[in-house]
Amino acid sequence: MNLKTLYAAVLAMLTISPSSHAQKTFNEVSYTPGKTTFRLNAPTEVDAVTSASPQQASTPSPRVTLRLYEQGQGGKALKSIKMEKAGKNQWQVVVKGNLQGRFYTFDTGHGETPGVFAKAVGVNGHRGAIIDESTTQPEGWAEDKPAGPALRPTDYIIYELHHRDFSIDASSGLRYKGKFLALTEPKAIAYLKELGVNAVHLLPSFDYASVDETQPQKPQYNWGYDPLNYNVPEGSYATDATQPAVRIREFKQMVQALHRAGIRVILDVVYNHTFDLAGSNFERTFPGVYYRYNADGSPSNGTGCGNETASEKPLMREFMKESMRYWADEYHIDGFRVDLMGVHDITTMNLIAQDLRKSHPDILIYGEGWSAGPCAYPLEKLAVKAHIQQMPGIAAFSDEMRDALRGPFSDDTKGGFLAGVANTEESLKFGIVGGVSHPDVDLQKVNYAKTVWANEPGQFIAYVSCHDDMCLVDRLKASIPGISEDELIRLDLLAQTAIFTSQGVPFMLSGEEMLRNKKGVHNSYNAPDSINHLDWNNLKRYPQVFEYYKGLIALRKQYPIFRLGSAEAIRRQLHFLPSQQGLVAWQLTDEKNQLRLFVALNANKEARQIPLPAGEYHILARDGHIDTTAKATLTIGEKGTDVAPQSALIVVQSTTPTR
Ligand code: CA
Repeated sequence: MNLKTLYAAVLAMLTISPSSHAQKTFNEVSYTPGKTTFRLNAPTEVDAVTSASPQQASTPSPRVTLRLYEQGQGGKALKSIKMEKAGKNQWQVVVKGNLQGRFYTFDTGHGETPGVFAKAVGVNGHRGAIIDESTTQPEGWAEDKPAGPALRPTDYIIYELHHRDFSIDASSGLRYKGKFLALTEPKAIAYLKELGVNAVHLLPSFDYASVDETQPQKPQYNWGYDPLNYNVPEGSYATDATQPAVRIREFKQMVQALHRAGIRVILDVVYNHTFDLAGSNFERTFPGVYYRYNADGSPSNGTGCGNETASEKPLMREFMKESMRYWADEYHIDGFRVDLMGVHDITTMNLIAQDLRKSHPDILIYGEGWSAGPCAYPLEKLAVKAHIQQMPGIAAFSDEMRDALRGPFSDDTKGGFLAGVANTEESLKFGIVGGVSHPDVDLQKVNYAKTVWANEPGQFIAYVSCHDDMCLVDRLKASIPGISEDELIRLDLLAQTAIFTSQGVPFMLSGEEMLRNKKGVHNSYNAPDSINHLDWNNLKRYPQVFEYYKGLIALRKQYPIFRLGSAEAIRRQLHFLPSQQGLVAWQLTDEKNQLRLFVALNANKEARQIPLPAGEYHILARDGHIDTTAKATLTIGEKGTDVAPQSALIVVQSTTPTR
């Protein structure tokens, strides 16, 4: 070993040694077979940090007690051990012996808690679990990464999925109904691959409170926006919630199976509030420092859930950063969807993105650029949609495009472009260009934004439906009374054509491709399976719908012109034809591949003529059918061509000069 390699070896030891853990703020349990070290950030004294407001000033705990248990719930503590002060607002204790398989809580005098950063828990998440983390790795986990090349944000095709919706019905034919493992089954993987999506966005899959994990046989449903333990997978999605390692291992198996199929995994994270305030792990551990309060000392409620966390405060900021890093490192998560991102502050979101990208350069981060009420923090500092330009590499959902298509958020009975509502075309065009500044888009006519908010199209999530609100079928029925099934299908396909030909990041709710409905239920967060489940028999009822979605996704992959990825390129290569009432059409010039494409979306009940340049074209989509092989040709004369009612036309022609 020469000096240089010796130096490198020493450097490697220094940087990768276990001591790097000590740099983490949240490292509550360090297990070894010989001893386990417990640490907790809890107040040792009153100071400015602990005083959220005069009414919320924490009193320091005179003592913090660690309790060890035989079981994940029930039974008396095996031992109660006094923790020692180990610095300002730090408590620590080292317990000798092999504690693997035991459970623990901390008691700071505000009620027992597994702490704020438990990585394994007992059933229902009230006690932490001491496990050997190496037992949670599926075989081959060290080599796990998504198959295929890196993706830019606009290359993503996001499929938003709730575990139970996807697999619970008998018609799914899946074995692990409502479980993480459903997404490891060949049938599920083959289905997603055939559809062509390259990312699944999982509705909350961390440990949430509303489902009783001790009753696995009882049908229970919740979206899961009621966080309990942020850094542990949800127990009800595991085959055995009582064995702490099982949910962890099965979650990783799911990630691994999806990655092998080239499908990335995006986690829906909900740091903006907790299930409750007084009983939360945050409050039981370190009262007052994780939440925002109004001037009168009452909890602020910008989330509509009774409390609101304070990302700008040091501990919460660090918590979010370490938590997201943990999911990315430990569970190989490829992206995050940040629930009510507008509740968090801009600085924190930027710090998180920078930190994650140090080791995960391609990680996708997007969020809801709004809150659900006024927050106790200055609006100009919040990570709302209007401030996306201050957050490079972070995207937000476009309610402009969504509502242009389906109608306003506030009233399910109102329609949009799809329902033939006038003056929706410019808002739709705003969505087609991925929300970036474009000379053909008149921002004054766009429904919400009167200025652009995305610097680049990768900051713009294009969608027409998600788990919130009605799914597309229900919204079309609610906003177009008496709609026929034929019309419903036509408009459904037309809506998604807009999404998948948008220059933004396309996003779809799972099951739309099988024409799912939620029986008209708008907020189905705790509705039974009969409302939320996918009925896989629909694939036989409406095979043309799946075929069309699959075709749309294939077209987007096949033609890079649909995902230019830069605002500059969009301004140069995408030009709109003059809009008509209920019709938006544009031209895409692919200089590199010497192709010219035209896309026209016609929401009218009659065919509409568009003035395409005369010439020979190949048809990619027409009248509700897609042909990725572009076999059929279309000769367009001087009068242009017709776009069939309530459908899209996509044609392509070569611009290679003929000799
Ligand atoms: Ca749970």
